Amino acid sequence: MSTSQATDLDLGVRDALDMLDLDPTRPLIISDADEVLLQFVAGLERYLDGQGLWLDLQTFALSGNIKDKETGEPVPVEKTPDLLSGFFKAEAGNLTAVDHAADALSALSERAQIIVLTNVPTAQRDARAESLARQGMAYPVIANKGLKGPAVSHIASAFTAPVFFLDDIPHNLKSVAESHDASRRLHFIADKRLAKLLPASEHSHFHSSHWPDAQSFMEEELTKKGF
Ligand SMILES: [Mg+2]
Repeated sequence: MSTSQATDLDLGVRDALDMLDLDPTRPLIISDADEVLLQFVAGLERYLDGQGLWLDLQTFALSGNIKDKETGEPVPVEKTPDLLSGFFKAEAGNLTAVDHAADALSALSERAQIIVLTNVPTAQRDARAESLARQGMAYPVIANKGLKGPAVSHIASAFTAPVFFLDDIPHNLKSVAESHDASRRLHFIADKRLAKLLPASEHSHFHSSHWPDAQSFMEEELTKKGF
């Protein structure tokens, strides 16, 4: 659920990535947060409800699908960015973890390095990192901007070990496929209503709404590659 088409790596994002202490000979899992580790849509619905609005999940998009509870009228598309910005300010630190995500990552962390690459606004990065840590996911959090391919290739190009990438948004899976084709890509959409609105991305190797299945996929891939 992003409209940014940036293809270059933001300099602030690059600097944050360069601070990570990663071992290119050890597997790496790069996970999105919203709708992968955290229940984004459920949190957004709570927030919208407080504003007299609701999310009419007819398509995999926010713009045009946020409606007034009383009149049923959609909020003008140009107001969506402001609404989302208000949502992140108020709720970036309050989203509930997706079921089994913390346990799955904890098990995987014995065999792989883990980082969170999320398009949260930079100002809310710390709140998001604290919220993830509080819910058992204390991993480095990078606030990305735009499509994720440039950030992934910046980190992963030096890797000799397997690199996994998880995201709910097809644009990001495509971007990562184009920037770092060697990555193994998981199309993960936690919210089942949302998952029904989208086919599996053609740029992914695995599609699921269930963390234990994603965990098994990655563990089997690691075993196959001798890690
Ligand atoms: Mg997401």
